[in-house]
Amino acid sequence: MPADVVCGMTVSENGKHLFELEGRRYLFCGSICKKAFASNPGKYLDPRHVPSKSGALMDWLRNLLRVRSV
Ligand SMILES: [Zn+2]
Repeated sequence: MPADVVCGMTVSENGKHLFELEGRRYLFCGSICKKAFASNPGKYLDPRHVPSKSGALMDWLRNLLRVRSV
């Protein structure tokens, strides 16, 4: 079973929250994690990143605020 790289949750192989980057497919538990990843993939692919659900939510919110303020 693949793991959501943003929050660490195990996700279904045929989940619909899918993001493709450089030929690799990443699966997410939901649109929040998917959007957080899409906004800054390097952060989550960094081995120092510690997956957490609250961290994912904060990143998603930060991204939302940044987009709205532009
Ligand atoms: Zn997630």
